[in-house]
Parts: sequence; C-alpha cells; structure tokens
Amino acid sequence: MVTPRRAWLVAVGDELLNGRTVDTNSGFMQRCLADHGLHTDAVLVVPDRAERIMSALEGTPAGALVILTGGLGPTRDDLTAATVATWSDRPLTENAIVADHLRALCERNNFPYRENMIKQGLLPNGFEALINPLGTAPAMVGEAHGRTLVLLPGVPQEMRALWPQVSAWLSDRGLQGQRLPSVLMRTARFSEPGLAKATESLRENHPGLDWSWWLTRWGVDVQASVADTDADLPEGLADRLAAELGDRVYARDLRGLNEVVQADLIAADRTVAVAESCTGGMLGAALTEMPGSSACFLGGALTYADDIKSVALGVSPETLSVHGAVSLETAREMAAGCRERFGGDYALSITGVAGPDGGTVDKPVGTICLGLASAQGVYAGRYRLGPHRYRNRELSVSFALDALRRHVAHGVDPFAGAEGEVRR
Ligand code: ATP
Repeated sequence: MVTPRRAWLVAVGDELLNGRTVDTNSGFMQRCLADHGLHTDAVLVVPDRAERIMSALEGTPAGALVILTGGLGPTRDDLTAATVATWSDRPLTENAIVADHLRALCERNNFPYRENMIKQGLLPNGFEALINPLGTAPAMVGEAHGRTLVLLPGVPQEMRALWPQVSAWLSDRGLQGQRLPSVLMRTARFSEPGLAKATESLRENHPGLDWSWWLTRWGVDVQASVADTDADLPEGLADRLAAELGDRVYARDLRGLNEVVQADLIAADRTVAVAESCTGGMLGAALTEMPGSSACFLGGALTYADDIKSVALGVSPETLSVHGAVSLETAREMAAGCRERFGGDYALSITGVAGPDGGTVDKPVGTICLGLASAQGVYAGRYRLGPHRYRNRELSVSFALDALRRHVAHGVDPFAGAEGEVRR
C-alpha cells in the first residue's frame, strides 16, 4: 500500500491576516493535492515577516511536502525566496533560465531589466524554476532538511496557472498518493438535513464507508469513499445513491450547475435569456462565467423596480398591483415577456424577497418565485428559502438553473410540486 505524503500549506502575506484578502489559494491547493492522492495536514497563514516564515518552516515535519504561496514578487516585502534560502542553507543564486526569460520579457515590453526583475531570477541554490505563464515571479521547487518545498506566487491566477507544472514535477518524483475510490453526487434544491435524510438508509447499510456532505454555491454535495486503499466501493453504490437523490443530482463530477446547464443547452442547440429582479444580474453572470457561453446565452433584463418590469418586460401593472412583484403571476409574465423580446428557446425569471427587510406574513423573507417560458408553455414555482440575503440570491440562481436543466432534459413542468416547498 502506498502511504500518501502529507502536505503542509503556508500562505504568506500581511493582507491575509488583516481580513482584507481571504486565503483562497490554500483551498485550491487542497483540492489539487487531493487529486494527487495527497492529504493536507495543516494550513498556516503568516505575515510577510522572515522570522514568521522561518518558524512556519521549522514547524513542518520531516518528510512533508511544504507548499508556500505569496511573497515571491519584486517588492521589498516579498521575502519568501530569501527566507527559504536562509532556512535551507542554500544561498540565493541567479537561475540562468529565469534570468534569460525575464530579460527577453523586458526587451519585448520595452521595460528596463532592473533590480526588481533581477530579484525574481534569484532562487535558493539547487532549486528548479517553473516559468510563470502569466507573470514574472517563477515557481521554485526543491528539497531541504528532508522536506519537499514548492514556492508559488500569491496572485491566485498565477498560482493556478503554474499548478499543472507543479503537478507534473510532483508526479515525476513519485509524489503521488493513491486516490481512495469514491463516489460524488452534486445536488441542487436539497438542504443539508434534507440530503442527510435522503441518504440515511444507504449510510446505515454501509457504515464502513466515509460519508461526507457539504454546502456549495449550488446546493449540497455528497461523497462516499472507502476508508482505506485496499477496499473497493460496494457494487452498484453510485446507482443506488443516485436513485435515493433523484432528479436533484445535476452532476457526478466536479462541474458546477452553470457548466452543466451550458453544456446541455449547447448539446441541444438551444438558447436562453434571463429576467432578473432580486438577483441583480447573478443569473446572467452565472451563465456567462464559462468560455463558450455565447453559443447559448442571449442576454438578460435586470428589472428591479416594478415599473421597469412593466416597461422592459411587459408585466402588466394590474398583475403587479393585484398579486405583487413577488408572485407566480409576475414570474410567469417576466419569463413570457423575456422570451418574446429576446427571442430565445427558453427564458428564466427570478423575483423574490431576498431580505433582510421587505418580508410580510404572506411573503416572508426568503420567498422566491421563478418562471420559465419555453415552446411547451410558461411555468412558475414558489419556494421558501432562508433569512440570509446573499444565500437567498445564490440559491435563487441555483433553483432557476436547475429548473431549466430539468426542463431541457424532460420538457416537463419543472416546478410541479414546488408550491409551498420550504427549504432553509
Ligand atoms: P506579486 O509580486 O506579483 O504580487 P507575490 O508572490 O509577491 O506576487 P503577493 O504579493 O504575496 O504575491 O500577493 C499578491 C496578491 O495576491 C495579494 O495582494 C492578494 O491579493 C493575492 N493573494 C496572495 N496570497 C493569496 C492567497 N493565499 N489567497 C488569495 N489571494 C492571495
């Protein structure tokens, strides 16, 4: 059995400790390492101070894979490479490949090759450089005091762009654990307790598996994995789990719901337009996040005020005054008006009480109404979400996309049974 190497992550940067920047690099890295079959044992966040970086390195166990992000840039407060050099007893030395690369980059951009550039070509002696495709600071990889060290720039896009090279380097050195067999289901429209209940009997039947579930932007993911590398998943488990979770499962891989919907629309050669109120453009944003969205996304109307719902989408003032902006009738007219004006195959609408104010006895905070217009008809559904404004907006987008996903697949009313559904 292969014993997976343990990883320690060290995020370096003052901005990570004063609440201005959230350490997202470590989360990304943990997911990448898990794909390598490597477990993360600890995540440390330290300021741009040599002694603190040093004590973080001292605290890592021999044999660990230690990945540091941040502090590789050209400015004075970028101390990571120098500190690792001191700790490793490997003085900073010019790396000819990086220096040539930076010199050529400066020439191409008519930029002087000065101290701040030269600094980024200095690596702890014996460390290899991985050229940064998006910036100037290279990644640095090497060994010291029985640890495998990886230094990456802090800028998230640069760190991510460098990951494939780091991954290849780790694989070349045999730093590849063994992934435990597992099954993942990504779901929409489940609450955590709802998902726990739906999986209860399966979990009871398979107590030897590791079960975990967690909230996502789209709903709840659930994963079952075997506890050690010698075991296998019980036969048919994935199908039984899918059957318990029903049509709330939108993916069995890592794709987000927006990616799934985009892929389904493109495969069916269909287009969609959106009419949004309380989500303020989040639905359109979700549908345009991925490259290739122009093949299926037409555009949207952001109709926050009642008048604008009438002017831009043709919602009748009578509907608004009789039923209110947050009503099945308004959602239906928003979707129908949007489809008519934008001319696509489908139109989705969202109108709701996101909170924290604006709730009434009939329409408490968290009440959302969704509409969907297609060649088959115009449908609407009402849901009760929770008290949190941002989460209500996020879940409204998820519920709307999930309605579209199911309608594209089956052509049926995606809101059947939604009326009165309470979901916190
Ligand atoms: P550069 O010189 O290009 O800035 P660097 O390696 O020195 O590269 P830092 O200066 O440490 O990087 O960070 C640059 C920016 O990247 C930070 O201001 C912050 O916005 C972001 N950043 C750094 N570390 C993280 C992190 N762990 N998670 C998310 N964002 C980060």
